[in-house]
Formats: sequence, C-alpha cells, structure tokens
Amino acid sequence: MENKNKEIANLFYQIADALEIKGETGFKVIAYQKAARVLEDLSQDVEALAASGKLAEIPGIGKGMAEKIEEYLKTGKIKRYEEVMKEVPEGLLKLLEIPGLGGKTIHLMHKELKVNNLDDLKKVIQDGSLEKLYGMGQKKVENIKKGIELFEQAQERMPIYEAMTIAEEVIEYLKMFEGLSHVSTAGSLRRMKETVGDIDILATGRDGQKIIKHFVAFPRTVRVLAEGETKGSILITTETGQRQVDLRIVEEDSYGPALQYFTGSKAHNIKLRGLAKDKGLKISEYGVFRSEKKIAGRSEEEVYGVFGLPVFPPEMREDRGEIELALEGKLPVIVEPEDIKGDLHVHSNWSDGVMSLEEVAEHGKKLGYSYIAICDHSQAAKYAHGLSPDRLAEQIEQIDKLNSKLKGIKLLKGIEVDILGDGSIDCPEELLQKLDLVVASIHSGFKKNVTERIISALKHPLVNTIGHPTGRLISGREGYEVDIDKVIEAAAEYKKILELNAYYDRLDLNEYNLKKAKEKGLLIAIGTDTHYAHGFEMMRFGLAIARRAWLTKKDIINTLPVSKLLALLKK
Ligand SMILES: [Zn+2]
Ligand SMILES: [Zn+2]
Repeated sequence: MENKNKEIANLFYQIADALEIKGETGFKVIAYQKAARVLEDLSQDVEALAASGKLAEIPGIGKGMAEKIEEYLKTGKIKRYEEVMKEVPEGLLKLLEIPGLGGKTIHLMHKELKVNNLDDLKKVIQDGSLEKLYGMGQKKVENIKKGIELFEQAQERMPIYEAMTIAEEVIEYLKMFEGLSHVSTAGSLRRMKETVGDIDILATGRDGQKIIKHFVAFPRTVRVLAEGETKGSILITTETGQRQVDLRIVEEDSYGPALQYFTGSKAHNIKLRGLAKDKGLKISEYGVFRSEKKIAGRSEEEVYGVFGLPVFPPEMREDRGEIELALEGKLPVIVEPEDIKGDLHVHSNWSDGVMSLEEVAEHGKKLGYSYIAICDHSQAAKYAHGLSPDRLAEQIEQIDKLNSKLKGIKLLKGIEVDILGDGSIDCPEELLQKLDLVVASIHSGFKKNVTERIISALKHPLVNTIGHPTGRLISGREGYEVDIDKVIEAAAEYKKILELNAYYDRLDLNEYNLKKAKEKGLLIAIGTDTHYAHGFEMMRFGLAIARRAWLTKKDIINTLPVSKLLALLKK
C-alpha cells in the first residue's frame, strides 16, 4: 500500500472517531470509516488515481470523500479534520489512544458517566458503573482494562535494546523519504541509558510537514497521536505490545543546537547554559546567540566549539564532571567499538547454546574479532547441559584442533563454572589449569551467603572473573543478596577481573558499579553471554554501559591483542 493511501486513511479514521465522540452517528461517520478502509485495502496509489481523474470511480469512495482526498493531495491538509479536532476536548481525544476504545463508547461514557479523562475512566471501571452502562457488560469492560494496560505500558520505560531496535527501524524507514537530510536518535536513547522512556527522533529536511506525513504512515502505526507541521507522534505495534515514537523536525541551521538540546541530559544542559551566561551568550534549541546574532547552529561541533569544548560522547552527557574536566583538557577518552577485539563469554551447543564451535568462530570472524572465549556451563548447571569433566576435556581437545585450522581468529578455552553453595568451584583443578579463561558465576542459591561465596571464588587461584556479579535482571529480578562493594574490594585484593555482562537484560555490572570498580583499579571483561548468533550484537549495549561509566580502552581486557590477553589471564 502506498503511503498517501495510509496517510489519508489515518486522517479519515480520526475524523470518524472524533465525530463519534461528539455523539454523531449514522452515515457521516460510516462514510469516513468506509473510505478509510477502502483506502487501506487499495492496491493502487491514490495519487495516481487522482491524477487520472478516477478517484470517484473507486467503490466505496463517494463524491464528498473524493473531494477531501483531492484537497489533501493538493494542500496537504483536510479542513474538516482540523475543525473536528478542535471541537473535541483533549482528555477525550486522549482516550482514543487506548486500544479497543472507540469514539462511540467514549461518547457514551462521557455523556452518561461524566468521564472526561483516563482517571475518570479508571474510576467508573472500579466502581462498576461502566459495566452497567447500556451495551457494555463484563467482557467489554475486561477488554477496555486490557487496553488501558497496553496503553500504560506504551508510556513505560523499555530496555535499551528494544528502544534501539524500534528507533533504527523507524530511521531506516524515514531515510526512504527523499527530502530527508539529517536524522538521529535523541534523548536518553542517544545517551544509551539501560532503559529508555521515550523514543525520540530528530530530523531535518526539505519539507518538514511531508516528512511528518511519511513518518505517521510507518507500516506498523496503530494510531497517530499527533501530526503537526514539525512534530509527529505515533503508537506502533512491537513484539511486546505498543510503543510511542516521537519525531521532531528542525531547521537545517538549528540542527546542532536542537540535537544537543534534545539529547540532554537536563543537568548537562543546565551546566552548559551557565557557561553561556558567563560569556554573555544565550543557548537554546535554536542556536547559540550573541545578542540577536546566531553564532552556532549547524552542528554540535559548532555549539560546543563556542565554549572551547569537544563534542561529548552522548553517553557522557550526565553532568558527572565531564564539562569541568573538558575545560581543563582532561576529559578521558572512553572506549570505542573498534577497540573491542573479542567476546569473552559465549555459549556453544556443547551446553545450552545453539552454535557449534565452528559457527562461533565463523561469526566472530565476520565481526572482525580476533578471539572469542567459549564459556559453556559446568556440570552443576544440569538444566543447561553443563559439561561433565569428561566432556570438558573433550571440548578442550576439539578447540585445540579447531584452532590449528582457523585463520584470523582464535577460540579461547573457557568455562562458566558454578559457584557452589559452599563457595567452591564446580570443576576439577587439573582441567581448570588447561583453560584460558575461568568465569565463575552464581546460578543458584541467590539468597545464600552470596557475598562470601563470590569472595571465596575470587580467592581461587584459577578463577579469572566473576560472571554477571549481581545477578540482576533489568526486566524484573532484583539480583542476589550481594554486597557488591565487598566483592569489588575482594576482586581488587586478589587482582581479579569482574565481568560486564553485555546481555541487554543484565548489563551487570551496571554503570555505577563499573565506576566503583574502576576507582579501585579493577579490570573489566565484557562478554555477551550469547547462546545464539543474533546475540553477538549485545556487545554494543555492554560497550555503551562501559562508556557511560567512563571506562577507557585500558580498563577493559578484551581490547588487548590475544597474546597479551592470554599472558594477563595466566598471571
Ligand atoms: Zn551465567
Ligand atoms: Zn553464561
């Protein structure tokens, strides 16, 4: 389906909804709904049909609707749409964002139960009066409750991985529009926080309004929440429900300050505004100004350059001292994606992964890595087909054999051993001695002396790192009962490494603990803990968290070439 078809269909649906909220019924509403459906199903481009004068011939599109389509194609607007939107109170329009709630029902709830907004709606569900409303009943109320849940979920924070996946898909789609010149994520998404509230996208281009129109016609749009000249907002379907995406269009010569401003953080921007004030300048989303004259606008380089500052990596823009340090020329150079030489925590099909050793090596090569550590589970992890000592010995042999054939990449012989209830390690020493990397992890007994157990694992001379040291899951598990400060201290004492598990739902250590670890002089190993090929991309999120913690290349062991890494792990 062509975009224009969908654009106009969306507007028609919205007009129909708004008319229904106002209490209109009958042919007017039906005409809009029908025309919208016809447009959605139409295989031809409505623009082409209009050009050849065949609009009115489309079955289901009457003369009136054909005129409105023409109006839109000519002016980019439908007057009736703008009128109707003004006539309906905002709180009621907002209720349309709840899946499964239509204009007719909203009208009835408003008229009979004085519902004016979401809070009112929740009240009448709670006190049972909605269920008694004519034509309602238990089942319909249940559906509305589910819709409210989906709606509220769409406003909640989401994991960075999910937000980034959506944003990049929308950006790819936006780039199909020819007049687009710049496009970027903004807000906490661009700063790569572990969870993201809003998916904010910023763009510039020849015709803002047209870009917005293209945007709201994104194929997975379920509802257009706003469609203005410079701002658009849509609700789209995702694997986990529905999410809101906002697009803002700015002028070309304000792109730098707008991107800077909308990336934030607020605290970072306040600091910058203070600097501007000291210099007698003004900074806003439109530019940096001396009196009325704009002295910076086109790029972030221009904006920061006015203050003698570098363009901060977005991950550093949190007002944690970055501006002060940069002014002294002491801003640390944080780790970059190209510094990473390999992945230090990968599962193969020898335990609960799906890739063969050969496949792991193959994918590593494609990623440009020089090594990947195979860290399958040990025997205690029965649920994960953990390796018995015999099988581990066999795997070691296999990896040696494979390495003698591999070019450009080396598989490191590793293991993820369980830290048992008494703090001991679930693998015989003579095998541990043959390994390049021993990751020790807690996989059971989350409330049982975890700190002591981890510390006793750290004391073990053959353990190199602790995997996912706090055990938290961002989507909902609090983690072990562990005193992470004590673990960090013990790791420093025994000169051990801690893991930054890059899996998006773990990101463990988190940025605060990484910072503490760095202050104690600890080294960090980043591993994706992936069990399948697709999961190698998690490195990006681990790296982002490392950058947010200001880790440099030197703080991370998988920036080392393989010989130096192996030497370090042997010590
Ligand atoms: Zn694990
Ligand atoms: Zn693992």
